[in-house]
Amino acid sequence: MSKGNINVSVENIFPLIKKFLYSDHEIFLRELISNATDATLKLKHLARIGEAKIEIGNPQIEVKVNKDNKTLHIIDQGVGMTQDEVKKYINEVAFSGAEEFLEKYKDSEAKETGIIGHFGLGFYSAFMVAKKVEIFTKSWKDEPAAHWTCEGTTEFSLEEHNRKDRGTEIVLHINEDEEEFLEESKIRELLTKYNKFMPVPIKFGTKEKELPKAEDAPEASGEDEKPKTVTVDDIINNPDPAWTKQPTDLEEEDYKNFYRELYPMQFEEPLFHIHLNVDYPFNLTGILYFPKLTNDMSVQKDKIQLYQNQVFVTDNVEGIVPEFLTMLRGVIDSPDIPLNVSRSYLQADGAVKKISSYITRKVADKLKSLFNNDREDFEKKWNDIKVVIEYGMLTEDKFYDKAQKFALYPSVDNKFYTYEELEAKIKDNQTDKDDKLVILYASNKEEQHSNIKAAQDKGYEVLLLDSPIVSHLIQKIESSKEQKVSFVRVDSDHVDNLIKKEDEQVSKLSDEEKEKLKESYEAVAPKEKYTVQVEALDSNSAPVMITQPEFMRRMKEMQQTGGGGMFGMGNMPEM
Ligand code: ADP
Ligand code: MG
Repeated sequence: MSKGNINVSVENIFPLIKKFLYSDHEIFLRELISNATDATLKLKHLARIGEAKIEIGNPQIEVKVNKDNKTLHIIDQGVGMTQDEVKKYINEVAFSGAEEFLEKYKDSEAKETGIIGHFGLGFYSAFMVAKKVEIFTKSWKDEPAAHWTCEGTTEFSLEEHNRKDRGTEIVLHINEDEEEFLEESKIRELLTKYNKFMPVPIKFGTKEKELPKAEDAPEASGEDEKPKTVTVDDIINNPDPAWTKQPTDLEEEDYKNFYRELYPMQFEEPLFHIHLNVDYPFNLTGILYFPKLTNDMSVQKDKIQLYQNQVFVTDNVEGIVPEFLTMLRGVIDSPDIPLNVSRSYLQADGAVKKISSYITRKVADKLKSLFNNDREDFEKKWNDIKVVIEYGMLTEDKFYDKAQKFALYPSVDNKFYTYEELEAKIKDNQTDKDDKLVILYASNKEEQHSNIKAAQDKGYEVLLLDSPIVSHLIQKIESSKEQKVSFVRVDSDHVDNLIKKEDEQVSKLSDEEKEKLKESYEAVAPKEKYTVQVEALDSNSAPVMITQPEFMRRMKEMQQTGGGGMFGMGNMPEM
C-alpha cells in the first residue's frame, strides 16, 4: 500500500475554471467591473484614512469597444497594482485581494466600503470570452507601471510599462466565436442588466444632451430649428440608488421614482413600499413594492431583483424569499448572500433562511402598521393586495399568525371585518347547536344573488370571498381556530341546517341511530376525505348530505388551483 498527495497543479485547474466556473459567459463583464469598482473603493478608503495622500477627485470607470482591433477595454482610476502585486493577485489563482484588503483594514471599517470581491476567481472569467488578456496598471504608490499579458495558458509575461495614469486598464482580445461582445448594443445591455446601480460611475461612450433654452433667447424663427445640444459622457449607472439611503432621507416621491427606474416599462404606480434595512445579525437592505394585483393568477413572478453590494445577481429569487412574496417587486441587497454558488446551495444556506424569515416579518409589520394607521385606505387597497396576503397566510405559518391582526373579511355589502370583529358580530346569530361558528360566504355576488338575499333576510352576515385560493384558506382557518368554525357557501343546500334556530326541530333519530348511520356512511366515504355529519338533522333535508356539497366543491376547486397551478402549490396542506 502506498499513500501520497494528489498533486493539483494550476495547469489542470485552469481550463476547468475557464470552462465550468460560470455557466454564463456574459458575467465576465460583471466580474471585471466589480474589480474596477473594488479598486476605486479601496483607493477612496485609503485616501479617507490618510494612508494614500492623494487628491482622488471623482474617479470613473470606462468601458470601450474597439471593433477594428476586436478588443474590449475596462479602465479604472483605482488603486492600480505594482509588478509585485500583479504577481501576487493575478498570478495566484484563487487568492482574493479583496478579502485580503478587508482583513488588513478591518479596524478602519473597510467593510463599510462595500467591496465586492470574494473568491479570487472573478478575473479569470475574462478567458471565457477572450483568447488573450492584457493588464496595464499603475499603482497609486510611487512605482513604475506594469504590463501583464496572458493567452489563456499558465504562461504569462510581465514587464515594466510607461503608463502614467493611476489605475488599471484591462484589454480583452475577444475570441472569434464571442464577437457579440464587440457589439455596442450587447455591451450596453449587459451594463444595464448587471451594473445599473453599481457605486462608481461607469462611462460608456457619449451622448447628446439638450441644453436648456436660455430665458432671453429670441423666439425660434419658425423653421424647424434643432434644440442646442452638448456632448457629455454617457454614464450608464445610478451610483446612489434609493435602497442604499436612509428611509428618513427619502420622500414618497423618491420611492416612486425609484420604482420607475427599476421598471421603466411599468406604468402602474405601486400601492406602497417597504424599506428593508438591517445590519444585525446579517446585512440586508432593499425596497419592496406591493404592485396592484388582481385575481388574475397569471401575475408575473420574479420581479424582485437580488443584488450583492449593488451588483446585480439574479431576478430569480425563488428559495430566497418566501414564495408568496415573489409576487412583490423591488430590490434586495445583501453582501451575505453568496454570489457564485449554485441555487440549491443558496436555498440551504443558513444566512439565506434567516433573510427569508426577516423579510416575511417586515412585510407583516408593514401591513399591520398600514392597517393601524389608516384603516380606510387599507380597506380600499384590500382587493389589490389580498392575493399576496391570503397566499402568505396559506403557506407561511408565521405570517398566518401575524395576519390575524390585519387580514380582512369583506361582506357582500362592502363592510370589512377582521376575524375577531366578524366573530363578535355573528356569534349570537350564527352559532350552531354544537357551538360551531358558521360563516356564510358568497363567491360571486351576481350568480348567488338570491341566496345572498335569502340569508340576509334571516339576519345572517354574508362575506364575499372570491380569491382563487379561498377554498384552501378557509380550510386552514377551520383547522386552526380554537372555537370550531365552518365556512359555508351561501348557495349550499344546507345553509339553514347549520345554524341554530329558535324553533329547532328535534331529531327523529336517537343518538345511537345517528352514530350507526354515520358509521355506515364512513365505511364507503373514508374519514380522511369526507366529513359525514348527521347531527343537524331536520325533517326537510336528507340526513347525510350535509357537508358534502361544500366539501366536494372545495376539493374540486383545490384540485384546480393546486398542482401545476401558477403558484405550484406543492406545499399545500394535505387534505
Ligand atoms: P476577487 O475580486 O474575488 O478578489 P478576482 O479574481 O476578481 O478576485 O481578482 C483578483 C485580485 O486581483 C483582486 O482581488 C485585486 O487585488 C486584483 N485586481 C483585479 N482587478 C483589478 C483592478 N482593476 N485594479 C486593481 N486590482 C485588481
Ligand atoms: Mg473580483
